Amino acid sequence: QILGHEISGVIEEVGKKVDYYEKGMRIALAPNVGCGFCEVCRKGLEQLCLDYNAFGISWPGGFAEYVKIPEIAVRHGNLVEIPESLSYEEAAIIEPLSCCYNAYESLNVRPGESLLIFGAGPMGILHLILNKHLGIGMTIVTDVNEKRLKLSQGYGADYIVKSDFRIKKTIMSLTNGIGVDNIITAASVPEIQEEALEMVAINGKILIFL
Ligand SMILES: [Zn+2]
Repeated sequence: QILGHEISGVIEEVGKKVDYYEKGMRIALAPNVGCGFCEVCRKGLEQLCLDYNAFGISWPGGFAEYVKIPEIAVRHGNLVEIPESLSYEEAAIIEPLSCCYNAYESLNVRPGESLLIFGAGPMGILHLILNKHLGIGMTIVTDVNEKRLKLSQGYGADYIVKSDFRIKKTIMSLTNGIGVDNIITAASVPEIQEEALEMVAINGKILIFL
């Protein structure tokens, strides 16, 4: 199978029955296409459909010069027109950003609350950007990689903490001993999920983002 589910590009050709989209239009493509009829699809949660298709998984993906977009994907609204100001590289990040936004919304971070993000990889940093855009309270990022930590500082992390044996002590002192209100584990190491439990405040929330 041709991989690649983070797709952007320019329309080269359209089918006879396609009426809105046209050659030359710049687009991003949402990769998951549900059946459209089941319970979750009707709720708009096509990514959870048991009978779904996805570009780069069951259909040929974006690591190619051309991608054919089946009628059902066009009809389900998977094409998103992008503005001139957005590059194709940026537009390709819409898919992972959407995953983060979906998860972030379910975490329901409230104004003034603190957030700790485990992992300063692309997903961790996208969560950081979302949190800063919403102007929410203190955001701490932790990682083992110092280069990535520096990068996250550039994206607005209030505190960056090297992930080592001192991490719990550092986090507790940053939060006056009460722990963090919200934690996102954007790293799949099992130990991190356990550590999060030790650093979350009473009545706090942990989002295991995998
Ligand atoms: Zn469905």
